[in-house]
Amino acid sequence: MTAILKAQNVSKGFSLAGQKIDVLRDLQLTVTAGETLAILGPSGSGKSTLLSLLAGLEPPDSGSISLNGQLLTAFNQAELTRYRAKHLGIVFQQFHLMRHLSALENVMLPLEIAGIGVKAARQQATETLEQVKLSHRLGHFPHQLSGGECQRVAIARALTVAPELMLADEPSGNLDRQTGDQIMGLLFELVRERGHSLILVTHNEEQAKLCDRVLHLTEGQLQP
Ligand code: ADP
Ligand code: MG
Repeated sequence: MTAILKAQNVSKGFSLAGQKIDVLRDLQLTVTAGETLAILGPSGSGKSTLLSLLAGLEPPDSGSISLNGQLLTAFNQAELTRYRAKHLGIVFQQFHLMRHLSALENVMLPLEIAGIGVKAARQQATETLEQVKLSHRLGHFPHQLSGGECQRVAIARALTVAPELMLADEPSGNLDRQTGDQIMGLLFELVRERGHSLILVTHNEEQAKLCDRVLHLTEGQLQP
């Protein structure tokens, strides 16, 4: 099986008020193409830190991360931004939509960063919003949408570039149970249909069971 993501000996800590906290310690991770992986861990165990390193949003203190054989840890900021826009889809707990952009414009954004023309981006974004059942909300701004609708826009934004790897950080964490279950169902359906790999970070064991494989983040390392 082809490994699409490889993290080797990744360590990350933070200094706070003169005190060093080691969050990730010599962490190893391999994800294969098309695999869905859950990373379970209690609050504060470093799940979000790990995802932001895998997304190239922050550099590790040491170790290497490669995606499709390309060393993320060797990229400069501009290369990282382009790489993220083209190959990664990221869904956050707090949605992180651009509040001055409509649903459609939010989904068009990564396509435009990836270098697709405006017209093609509009068409592709519209199609992806149809897939998350939001055709009737294209012109709505985030404050005019419910939490579940915002997360569906965020999922569409993440999926529209057809990313090799989707990263989801507690995507249902800010939603009520029923809406959260619907969102998770939709996410899995689309990821599997499109053959993307998914890393789902969660503290919800029920959601973790939906994945092909589950790892636990304990003391800065991933264990079965
Ligand atoms: P989780 O997502 O599993 O709840 P996080 O990755 O957010 O955990 O945080 C892991 C640990 O790192 C926590 O103790 C948190 O306080 C600390 N931490 C995270 N980000 C920072 C930061 N920017 N500065 C200082 N400490 C941080
Ligand atoms: Mg977190």
